[in-house]
Amino acid sequence: MSDYLDVAVVRIQSWLSRVPDLRGRRGASAMIRRATEPVAIDSLLTGWQDHAERCTEAGHVDGVVPLLLHAEDEETQRRVERLVVGHLREWLPGASLRSTLRRGEDWLAAHDGAPACWERDWPAAVSEWPLGKECDWCQTWPANGHRWTGAQENPKREELCPDCLLRYDHGKPRGDQKEPAPGTERELLERWEQQYNTAARVPHKFPDLVEEFGERGDHTHLATVYADGDAISRFGKELHKQRSRGRGGEFDMAKAIDEATWTALLKGIEAVKDSDTETLPLVAHLVGGDDVLVSLPAHRAWLFALRMQRKFHESLRESLKTAGLGTITAPTQSVGMVFHHHSSPLATASDLAEELLKETKRDHRSSRASLAWQDITHDGPHPVGRGGITPETLERCWGDLTKLSRLGGSALANLAKLARSNDQQRLHQQAERLGREELVAKFDSETIPLADAVGMVRWWKEWS
Ligand SMILES: [Zn+2]
Repeated sequence: MSDYLDVAVVRIQSWLSRVPDLRGRRGASAMIRRATEPVAIDSLLTGWQDHAERCTEAGHVDGVVPLLLHAEDEETQRRVERLVVGHLREWLPGASLRSTLRRGEDWLAAHDGAPACWERDWPAAVSEWPLGKECDWCQTWPANGHRWTGAQENPKREELCPDCLLRYDHGKPRGDQKEPAPGTERELLERWEQQYNTAARVPHKFPDLVEEFGERGDHTHLATVYADGDAISRFGKELHKQRSRGRGGEFDMAKAIDEATWTALLKGIEAVKDSDTETLPLVAHLVGGDDVLVSLPAHRAWLFALRMQRKFHESLRESLKTAGLGTITAPTQSVGMVFHHHSSPLATASDLAEELLKETKRDHRSSRASLAWQDITHDGPHPVGRGGITPETLERCWGDLTKLSRLGGSALANLAKLARSNDQQRLHQQAERLGREELVAKFDSETIPLADAVGMVRWWKEWS
């Protein structure tokens, strides 16, 4: 039996997206990367080798420090825990941390979903900070310094808290090339170059993203997409069972999931990228393990999400087959997707996307891929309980949705109103007037309810 200690940032996407400024968000991504990358943890553990080592079986996920403990006595284990918590606290003063101790024959067995031996929360160290004016970025903590932000010609003085001061300093592009700081986006660009043999850029601001890639005259709206794997711990349990029967010992679960997540993300971007531009139509906030949090222009979101979900499952199925584990069902990926104005707070969108993702996973008991969506501009920021849809349904209805999207704004608004009022007779008359009875009749509870379909095609793009 071995002891495994994980120290991790709690609700990392919420911490990342807390500040409105993209530079602050990029800085946070760089801080997390630098604080938890393998080389940083190895150097932290220098002199502690008898007590703990970085757990390589767990793979690398931003914001998580996985350790294999050699010390068995509680006192030494707690000292290791405090060492790591202290290190993360220095890098990420505003993040809440959680340490968890699990026990098992190996890492997979320890993470098969059984309850942890113990778990401890380390909230952000706010009370130690000086009292002052509220931070201009996160509006959560007291400010204790300032930075000049905005355009060079028109700089703006902003009072920032210790967490946001670090974000600012780490979010700076380095050198003249404006190369992004290490973190999610840098890794995305490196992987893109590897896969497609061409260099790419990411937009620097949300307005750039919508101006360059907005569609149908709408240069205002983004979709923030939060995705993660379904029933990953059930999958781990199944792998463990196979391993105890002497099968699939070579299969590296953490690595396979990481690869599937990245491959799927690249596939999704490839599907919605314009071929004549180097700039990717997407801002990546977080990619790690099976988690993905990105924003992209609203009109491109549906195809992006569908391709990503399909590729995630396919990629894992392939790596299982290669490892001789073709009989195991590969996990799917579910998605929470939120449409919002580019100037509305990212944190609201990412928190809602997380909420929708949880709901749809619960509805489908994490046993199949699904996608739940909401439009903050039209539905408000609180979950409206619209059910999730599966990639199969979306694919089946794709052509009809495209036809529906051609009807134009006011015809669609009318249809939506009638669908919501449930006045079947007037709805039928309206459809007849448009010469679209057959099309309108295709949307029902068996496929996609008409009111939902109209909401979906508000942000629709015809792909040739
Ligand atoms: Zn702050």
